[in-house]
This record gives sequence, structure tokens and C-alpha cells, in this order.
Amino acid sequence: MKLIFLGPPGAGKGTIASKICENLGIPHISTGDLFRKAIKNQTELGKKVQQIIESGDLVPDALTVALVKERLNNPDVEKGYILDGFPRTIGQADSLSEFSSIDAVINFTITDDQVIKRLAGRRLCKNCGAGYHVDTVKPKEEGICDKCGGELIIRPDDAPEAIKNRLAVYYESTEPLIDYYRQKGILNDVDGSPEVAAVVKDTETTISAI
Ligand code: ADP
Ligand code: ZN
Repeated sequence: MKLIFLGPPGAGKGTIASKICENLGIPHISTGDLFRKAIKNQTELGKKVQQIIESGDLVPDALTVALVKERLNNPDVEKGYILDGFPRTIGQADSLSEFSSIDAVINFTITDDQVIKRLAGRRLCKNCGAGYHVDTVKPKEEGICDKCGGELIIRPDDAPEAIKNRLAVYYESTEPLIDYYRQKGILNDVDGSPEVAAVVKDTETTISAI
């Protein structure tokens, strides 16, 4: 099953995708995670995109598409995958259709107020990238990653100014993808506002009906 997870920043795409991928045994491909890893390792790509990502803008389509295309050459994608945070523009979606055939798109819906609350409380493991939230996805020990013991930090693009910009960028560039995929007949809406376990369950029900 080849799936796209769509939705505004903070809709829970990453959290839900990591659980579903674990259950289905397919890779979770997050462009945000791939970019953050490149920044952490200060690769050529990482140096190019650091400023853009910290301000909440989108990385240019050409760089993003090349990154995903390369990732999809890995043999682990044979049984399918979830694309989390890609495509984010119509241009990216058009490019994707040239090298992948997507079975379905899950669109996670959530209000702007909830987005702001969620992003402001979000924490990230500095070491492995696992995501947490101070109210809803708490680690066993405060400030420490359950998976690797790494330190939990606030992402630079979760600062209030960057959050505002990311929402504006979402409405301008990414929201049009809802209609794009609805017209192709492969869009499925899932309410992203309940607690994580409930959204995972709704998403699994939706996927099993595809
Ligand atoms: P969120 O979904 O919480 O906004 P992500 O981790 O998916 O966060 O993405 C973080 C940042 O990485 C984005 O704000 C953007 O700068 C960059 N990025 C991720 N995916 C893409 C993409 N498909 N196209 C352009 N930029 C992207
Ligand atoms: Zn960790």
C-alpha cells in the first residue's frame, strides 16, 4: 500500500504515520525527518535547507523531489510506504505521479487553534528525532526520549513566528492538494483532533477499506 499523509503542520501526520508503519511493517518516509537529519549531519543538502526550514518556508520543489525519488530507490519500499509531509505543493504532486503510483491519500483535519496549541507543546528527540508532546505524548521521564535516552528539545520552526508562517504556507501551497487528490478520487478525510490512539484506529479502519 502506497499512501500519502496530508494535513496542516501539527495535524499529527508524523505521530500517526510512525505507529501505522510499525503495524504494517512498511517504511515511514518523512521529508521533514530527512531534512532534519541532513541538517544535523551538516551535509551539502543540510546546509542549503537549514535557514529555509527554521523560518518555516518550503524547501524548493527540485531539492525535495530529488530527495524523495532517491529514497524510493531503496529496496525496502517494495511492500509500500507512507509519505509524510510530501507532496506539499501541486508541482511536487505532479512530479511524484511520474515515478510512483499512490493508492490513497489520508487527509488529517484539525483547526488552526489546535495546530497552534499542539506545535507550541511539541518536543523532539535531539538524537533520534522521535516526537513527543508535553500534554498528549509524554515521555516516561520528563525531557528524555523513551526510545534512545536522548535529550528532548523544541524545534526551531515551532517558535511562534515560524508557526504562523508555516500555517500561511500551508494554506497557500499545500491545501490545494486536497482538491487535487479529491478530483482523482483517492482522498480520505480522517479527523485529526481526537487523542492519538483514536486517530490511529480511525486511520486503520479507513486504510482497511481501501
Ligand atoms: P510539519 O508537518 O510539522 O510542518 P515536517 O517535519 O513535515 O513538519 O516539515 C518541517 C519542514 O521541512 C517544513 O516546514 C519545510 O520547511 C520542510 N519540508 C518538509 N517537507 C517538505 C516538502 N515536501 N516540500 C518542501 N519543504 C518541506
Ligand atoms: Zn530518541
